Amino acid sequence: TENLEIENVIIGSGYGGAVAALRLAESGHEVTILEMGLNWEKSGEKFSPMISPGKSAAWLRTKTIAPFFNIFNTKKYTGTLDRWDFSNIKIWMGRGVGGGSLVNGGMAVLPKKDYFGEVFPELNTEEFYKKYFPLAEKELEVNSADENFLENCSFYKFNKVGEQEAHKAGFKTVRVPNVYDFKYMEDEYENKVPRSALAGEVIYGNNYGKKSLDKTYLKKAQETGKVHIHDLHKVESIAKGSDNTYILEVIQTNTLGETVAKKKIVCKKLFLCAGTMGTLELLLKSSNDNKLTLNSEVGQNWGNNGNFMTGRNFVKTFSGGTGVNHSTIPVGGIDNWDDKEHPFFSEIAPLPMGMDVATSLYLMINPVPQKGSVFFNPVSRKIDLKWSADNVALARKNAEYFIKKMNKANGGTRAHLLFNNGFGADICYHPLGGATLGKATDMKGRLRGSENLYIIDGSLIPGTIGVNPFLTITALAEYCIEHIISEDFS
Ligand code: FAD
Repeated sequence: TENLEIENVIIGSGYGGAVAALRLAESGHEVTILEMGLNWEKSGEKFSPMISPGKSAAWLRTKTIAPFFNIFNTKKYTGTLDRWDFSNIKIWMGRGVGGGSLVNGGMAVLPKKDYFGEVFPELNTEEFYKKYFPLAEKELEVNSADENFLENCSFYKFNKVGEQEAHKAGFKTVRVPNVYDFKYMEDEYENKVPRSALAGEVIYGNNYGKKSLDKTYLKKAQETGKVHIHDLHKVESIAKGSDNTYILEVIQTNTLGETVAKKKIVCKKLFLCAGTMGTLELLLKSSNDNKLTLNSEVGQNWGNNGNFMTGRNFVKTFSGGTGVNHSTIPVGGIDNWDDKEHPFFSEIAPLPMGMDVATSLYLMINPVPQKGSVFFNPVSRKIDLKWSADNVALARKNAEYFIKKMNKANGGTRAHLLFNNGFGADICYHPLGGATLGKATDMKGRLRGSENLYIIDGSLIPGTIGVNPFLTITALAEYCIEHIISEDFS
């Protein structure tokens, strides 16, 4: 085992980790990021499209793990997409330098101001909407598609049909900004550049077009010369050292997931940015194994952001189908949030199968009135969830209402071809909470009762934010790290 002493360590290179790294480096501090996934850019490996999954498709698995149509075998490799299965829920996550930004749909959605205020009553809402959200949008390079392009691009027929049908059923739709470069996509459409979104790439990574974190925050961070990213480095546990230091047990692996080196890293300041599930597993496991003391809020207030996937088959009565080709980047949302009885936001999702399957796919986001919790299971040596049908009752009621109304106005059936009973109640892309701001941590992300230990990722958000979460995670990270730098670094 190699022993190392490092001043500032960040675990994880997703949104929280990338923001923390850039701002710490800009204020003159050396930072080391430990990331269990691969540095794809450095490796020279290519990402693969959905209909021909290659190395990037799955984290150390021999079969694909997308939400459906997993008919493909893959070679065991440190791929970009991981999934953790629990009873009643499956959770997908990104792996690699850039975290979830490598695999996600790039939707950069501003939460409703009122709802943000409800979720975070102690934060200054005005300041967030004037300062931290615009800053996050700028750094993430958020942009919107040209309406003319959307109107005429055959790859967006699914969205056009989706919006028309929603309007016919009496729902309101909104345009959704994204970090995918829409100017690049226009060039793709005209065959001026290699295709990515228009070639079925997204959930196993985009080779072009998408401004994932390695192209924005992490790139800027590395340009300072003060940020050192170690990929294929997995933190196994945390223990408290003397003088308020932390001792990390780390394994370095190869791309088959085999351990090639073991390291013991002692650090002064530790930033846990391993994503909601990663951060909770590290904390709860270290508490069980190493007596790391945690406050009783750790593991509480966990939620799936009300994720509920559903769809409709035989969408052709009025529209003539959803189109042969789908861009992988969503641009439309159905906004029913202000309906007191059935509040939801739904993404009109693509289904890039390379043929017209006449199916509409929706990722609904609902409020989460009843939160779940996370605990360490000493038998499986993994974290487990308290999460049941009760936790998704409102989402299910909303989905039934939504699909019924859509089918009544437009024809079609519940998507039995995609999901059991037409409902994917167990599909979660947005795990949130468990180390919530103001409860498990103070109002700046300092874990209560643990000096020099900071939480900056999705686990700060108490289980719900009403829209796709990465813009909020980024804004919260900007706010936390700004205060941490000015108050804790002299
Ligand atoms: P992450 O981005 O998850 O980053 C955590 C990082 O830590 C990972 O790289 C992980 O490998 C690393 N890590 C974990 N444990 C360890 C360890 N022990 N040691 C070392 N490294 C570790 N959100 C949106 O807003 N818009 C979308 O369009 C959208 N689409 C999505 C589509 C899919 C398929 C998925 C899975 C998610 C999507 N999301 C979307 C959600 C979004 O990607 C996440 O909310 C976001 O990435 C969470 O950010 P984070 O900083 O909390 O952690």
